[in-house]
Amino acid sequence: MSTAIPASIIDAPSGYPHEWEQDAALKDGGTVRIRPIVPADATALQAFVKNMSTESSYFRFFRVKRQLEPEELEEFTQLDYSEQMAFVAIVDGELGGVGRYSAKGCPDGVAEAAFTVADELQGKGIGTLLVYRISAYARAHDIKGFRAHLLADNHAMMRVFRNAGFAMRREVDQGVYTVEIDTEESDAVLAAEGRAEQISIAASVMPLFYPTSIAVIGASRDKLSIGGRLFNNIINADFNGPVYPVNPKASIVRSIRCYPSVTDIPGTVDLAFIVVPARYVNDVVRECAGKGVRGVVVISAGFSETGEKGNQMEQELLDIVRDAGMRMVGPNCMGLQNTDPAVSLDGQFGPVMPRTGNVSMSSQSGALGLAILDYATHMNLGISTFISVGNKVDVAGNDLLLYWEQDPNTDVILLYLESFGNPRRFSRIARRITKKKPIVAVKSGRTSAGARAASSHTGSLASLDVAADALFRQAGVIRVSTLEELFDVTALLANQPVPQGDRVAIVTNAGGPAILAVDALESQGLVVPEFSDELQAELRSFLAPDAAVANPVDMIAAAGPEEYRLAIGALLASDEIDALITLFIPASEEGVSETSTAIREAGEATPDDKTFLCVYMHSGGAPSELSSIDVGFPTFSFPERAAKALRKATTYAEWLAKPEGVVPQFEGIDSERARRVIDTAIDGADDAGVWLDPDAVDAILESYGLTIPKARVVSTVEEAIAFGDEIRAPIVVKVISPSAVHKSDVGGVALDVSGAGDIAAAYEQVTAAVPDPEGVLVQEFVSGGHEVLIGMVEDPIFGPLIVFGLGGVFVELIGDVAFRIHPLTDRDAAEMISEVKSARLLEGYRGGEPGDIDAVVDTLLRVSNLIEDLPEIFEMDLNPVKVGTPGSGVRIVDARIRVRPTTGTWIPSRTDLPSKI
Ligand code: ADP
Ligand code: MG
Repeated sequence: MSTAIPASIIDAPSGYPHEWEQDAALKDGGTVRIRPIVPADATALQAFVKNMSTESSYFRFFRVKRQLEPEELEEFTQLDYSEQMAFVAIVDGELGGVGRYSAKGCPDGVAEAAFTVADELQGKGIGTLLVYRISAYARAHDIKGFRAHLLADNHAMMRVFRNAGFAMRREVDQGVYTVEIDTEESDAVLAAEGRAEQISIAASVMPLFYPTSIAVIGASRDKLSIGGRLFNNIINADFNGPVYPVNPKASIVRSIRCYPSVTDIPGTVDLAFIVVPARYVNDVVRECAGKGVRGVVVISAGFSETGEKGNQMEQELLDIVRDAGMRMVGPNCMGLQNTDPAVSLDGQFGPVMPRTGNVSMSSQSGALGLAILDYATHMNLGISTFISVGNKVDVAGNDLLLYWEQDPNTDVILLYLESFGNPRRFSRIARRITKKKPIVAVKSGRTSAGARAASSHTGSLASLDVAADALFRQAGVIRVSTLEELFDVTALLANQPVPQGDRVAIVTNAGGPAILAVDALESQGLVVPEFSDELQAELRSFLAPDAAVANPVDMIAAAGPEEYRLAIGALLASDEIDALITLFIPASEEGVSETSTAIREAGEATPDDKTFLCVYMHSGGAPSELSSIDVGFPTFSFPERAAKALRKATTYAEWLAKPEGVVPQFEGIDSERARRVIDTAIDGADDAGVWLDPDAVDAILESYGLTIPKARVVSTVEEAIAFGDEIRAPIVVKVISPSAVHKSDVGGVALDVSGAGDIAAAYEQVTAAVPDPEGVLVQEFVSGGHEVLIGMVEDPIFGPLIVFGLGGVFVELIGDVAFRIHPLTDRDAAEMISEVKSARLLEGYRGGEPGDIDAVVDTLLRVSNLIEDLPEIFEMDLNPVKVGTPGSGVRIVDARIRVRPTTGTWIPSRTDLPSKI
């Protein structure tokens, strides 16, 4: 084997890109650290080459090579980290692979690349990870493609390139293939990356949910202690494998022989639960690593949640786990459960092992997790797996999503989130999963954007919890705001097909609650249609003469099992509705069981194209006929709750039916010009950034095909008058002043001015309005049209947020705006407009002039394009954008853009490598 090398670099050479150190999961469930190479790796590299098999050496160097020359070693390890780059893959503390490129002397922007993986590690996905890593780095450094030379029989590497999804050209000459790969992140690349990630991460999480043997380190004889409760739970649930208690102070726990340390256990240990005081945890985990344990669940608290010292311990803990290629849940968590009878694992210290079902859940709060399990057992909700992620240092929401995506026992995914680790990655994964399985999320807490001092309309609008909202919406995640809603929606989705449409029927034995249900449904935007004459006649044929049959169907209090059975049957068979809510309000205890049984039987016969919900209104709760775990539909206690759950499910169904949007690219964009403007402006600027002057703003907007009125910055009355003469149209005169955020508030704007005299007067007026006039902007006056706001503000966690609303000074006051996270798809842009209520004005509401909605969509998409290319922009306010009649386009009459130097770290985080754990 080769020589040990460090996983992370502390004493790094200058330019070493720390943020590119990353861990990834392998196909066999192990993990690998991938990091940039450093000169100190030379020894390990030499050993690596020495140990290569004859074949690998031949494939890599086209001859058998046992040693690198000093100058080769230097060339391979001493890099500038831009034109030349190399990543090493470290497995079990040893060098396991290298991927490198060099663009030196390659004028065409195509770099020479080479990849090698240690013989004994081939087939685990390391080559693929190195290719993604290197190409992501290249992308971030303006390298358009790679050229790699492969011997024709190097099938393994050829397969890596092909499976990675890159656009590839091959040429063969005398047994040597030259493969050219575009580094562009095409859809094919993303899809292939997604698949590779899915397989490897799911495999790495497997030992947590399906361990073959378990150790409980800190198992205690004290039944009330956490270690005692956890151990008892595992035993009581009859875990399907050996369980070893570990405790140096006990020789027997619950009649089971106890071991002083995990290393004393005779058999293998797959998963270890750790319930010892925080100060012992790291040593214990080291022992687990030595023992070959694959997963650890650290229940112990006392880590980053307690302060700096705990934080240091936690970092060390993570290093131990990653170096050993283990996966870890926690620390500071409650544990996990898998109700699959094949394992029957109750690995948590609370009192409830829920019933087996098809819902999986991750909770960031342990206490809340307990409450949720308790509540679930009191509803007809069964759980597949439950996990409390605690400080989520290693295993976090994204890993679990990837696991549940392929878990056949999971149909619905619940998330209780307090924070996001990597929102961009979450969005990418969730977008894919929600097309197959619903994700229901409760997110508490506000975004950090709220803390920002607002210096633009956009900035102050973003102070709500809009980023998480936008993220969920764009990824098709069902967001709920209360735990009650979480359960209601889940109970519906776990038991019933998603609604095919928005038409709802109600059948009831009491009028009042049905009216409440109609109100709730209609206020949620659902439809309660009046039935056709035929359907009414059919209902009439078996219902009492004074029953109402138009919808709601009020069968009056006398209705019994037979009426319910027939009415439900008739409605479910009809093509006039998509969902049916059955209300049952028991007038007395008598007959409750019979009627409930009739409702259950009829409801469970629901065809696939209908959604069935039941409401049983009584303080005592629903009878077992309607609420036991095996009932095939949800039963709610109030009509409003049923209506709300149905609304969420309908919205999800709409998401499922939607084709995916695309992020369009535009012709004729002059990004180089915009880049030059930005580079000049940020020269010397600090982190607070600078607002661009009007000329710079116009140049950038123009470079992206965004339409602005004719305009000029002037410094004398004469120049202003000359501009008016030139354009032969009325003009607008605006003062340029750093102090006036909103110029018109202080009288710094004069509209619709023509003629030399008026222009001169306007000029005097606007410059006198502020203490610090820096010049005057004269513009063509754009008459008529609607005014809209388009803006952007950067959230430190979520990245750029784009906002749309109807413009004018009231935009903050009314708050009728739509946010999306950049980048926008064409669908996002169209939906932003339809989501804003006042944007109906653009459709020509009540005889008003309609607006050019297509041009607004185009503007939003171009803005998103611009933001993508120019990460220095962190705040932007286009307010107003004047929208003309359809076909006449838009004019951005007021624009403010703020820029600051980028730290450079944004690029890799945007590239968002899927391999990151
Ligand atoms: P500020 O937002 O700093 O107060 P604006 O440049 O947005 O200044 O001007 C204020 C208002 O004047 C705009 O909201 C718009 O209604 C109107 N306005 C500004 N420029 C033009 C123009 N070129 N054509 C027509 N109306 C304009
Ligand atoms: Mg304005």
